[in-house]
Order: sequence, then structure tokens, then C-alpha cells
Amino acid sequence: MDVYGLIGNPVGHSLSPPMHEAGYEELGIDARYVTFEPPADDGAKAVEAAATLDVAGLNVTVPFKQDVLEAVAPDDLAARIGAVNTIDFATDPPTGYNTDAVGATRALEDHGVTLSGEAVVVGAGGAGRAVAFGLADAGMSVAIANRTVEKAHALADEVPNATGHGLDELGDLLADASVLVNATTVGMKEDRSPVPADALHGDLAVLDAVYDPIETRLLREAADAGATTVDGAWMLLYQGVEAFERWTGESAPVETMNAALRAGLDE
Ligand code: NAP
Repeated sequence: MDVYGLIGNPVGHSLSPPMHEAGYEELGIDARYVTFEPPADDGAKAVEAAATLDVAGLNVTVPFKQDVLEAVAPDDLAARIGAVNTIDFATDPPTGYNTDAVGATRALEDHGVTLSGEAVVVGAGGAGRAVAFGLADAGMSVAIANRTVEKAHALADEVPNATGHGLDELGDLLADASVLVNATTVGMKEDRSPVPADALHGDLAVLDAVYDPIETRLLREAADAGATTVDGAWMLLYQGVEAFERWTGESAPVETMNAALRAGLDE
């Protein structure tokens, strides 16, 4: 039996185990997906221990996404993003991937969104970095807006075809944009949006990385403005689908995994 898992601290009530295990069951793969909560400073140690225990693959979440870089060989995208959320132990050293970037682009494409033209990414933390690289690699020019404007400028210097801005410029930036992604924590467990409602319009596709609640204030106001909306569970789904496919070499049963994820969100 293969063992996959998630390391984080806290890992809390993760939706990844039911999502991945539904996929194994559908494809008849003999595997389990479990959660581990190592001490906050021990991310790299946890990866070494997992290799010793013959764990097949790990997802990585806060606060370990940067720390585990020292215990893996990151692929080019993960190295550029500077964070790993998926580890494959089939190689020695294990390979580190960042599937959050593809999670965002596949979520948008799944909703019929063409990734060309101008995108606005709000946030320059871990998720913002992954989304900005993902959209730029897909061919979009990316405006990064962040509360701490210096972080937006620093990230824009690393991402191809990107510019950095403060949140006060969102109105102007969105006027010409076709894609907006919220990659801040604003709206998580609260009824707030990082984007002024009057800046939203019907030619936008809006992805909110926040998935608790599933319908954030940003998505509600975007739908009112006639925009296409994509909730954060789609990004969560596709980062998991991408990890599943890298680990198993099989095409993931996306509908089954989505159903298990949505059932978990409803609990
Ligand atoms: P992070 O690294 O801590 O970054 C937080 C970001 O939020 C920073 O850009 C920060 O700006 C901004 N921010 C925080 N409070 C703010 C406020 N009051 N006003 C304006 N901006 C504020 O967090 P992360 O790991 O990137 O996660 C961000 C969100 O994405 C979380 O809700 C997380 O759950 C979600 N996420 C979802 C997925 C998915 O698959 N759906 C995957 C990854 C992450 P400063 O730089 O100014 O502090």
C-alpha cells in the first residue's frame, strides 16, 4: 500500500484526505492519504523522515512551503516561486513541485477563461507568488497589487511581464483586465473584500483563492457586476489533481475528487 500525506502546522480539518482517497478508490489504487503535524521548525526534518519511512508523496502547507526546499530538488517553477507544495519521493533527492500555480490556471481554464491579455493578482504572499508566475507563464501580463507595496515591486521584478502596485491603484488596473485573482487572506472567515465593488465589471473572470467561506464577498460582488466567478475550491481541487497525477502517473478522476471535496466543504 502506498502512503501519501500532508504536512502542515496546524493541519486542522484538511479536505485533502477525502479528495485524494476518493481518487484512489475510483482508480483502484491501493493507497492512503494521511495528515502529519510536525513542529513548526522541523519541515525539512519531516521530509527526511518521510523518505526513510518510504512515504510515496507529500503535500506541504503553511508554514513549511519554503523550509522544505532544503530537503528536495525543486523543479524550475517551484525554484522560481521559492515554495514547494508537492513532493514526489520516487527520486533521490525527492522532487519538489508547486502545483498552486497550475491549480489557479486550470481552475480558470476549466471555467472557459482564456489566459491572454491582462491579469490583476491581489496579494504577494505565498499564493500570490504562485498565481503570478502561473498566469505569466500562461502568457498573461500581470499587475500585482499588494498592501505592502514594496513586496509587490519585488515580486514584479522576478515575474516575467509583471508590474507592482499598491491597492489604491486597483480601480485603474482592473479597467483593462480580463482576469482578477484574490491571493490575500482578506475575506477568509469574514465578510470583507480586498477589491472595491465599483472596480468590478462584466468582462472579468474572478478567482478567489479563499475558500472559507466558499462564496466570499468578492465573488458575490463580482457576480453582481456580471463577472465570471471561480471559487477557491476549484484552485484547491486542481492543485490536488496535479499532485495526484504527478504521483500516480494516472489521469485523475476530477469529477470524483471534486465531489468528495465539495462534500467535505459542506460539512
Ligand atoms: P500569506 O503568504 O500569509 O500572504 C498573505 C497576503 O495577504 C499578503 O499579500 C498580505 O499582504 C495580504 N493581506 C493580509 N491581510 C491583509 C489586509 N488586511 N489587507 C490587505 N492585504 C492583506 O498567505 P498565503 O499563503 O499567500 O494565502 C493567501 C490566501 O490564499 C489564504 O486565504 C489561503 O487559504 C489561500 N490559498 C488558497 C489556495 C487554494 O488552493 N485555494 C492555495 C494557497 C493559498 P502584506 O504583504 O501587505 O502583508
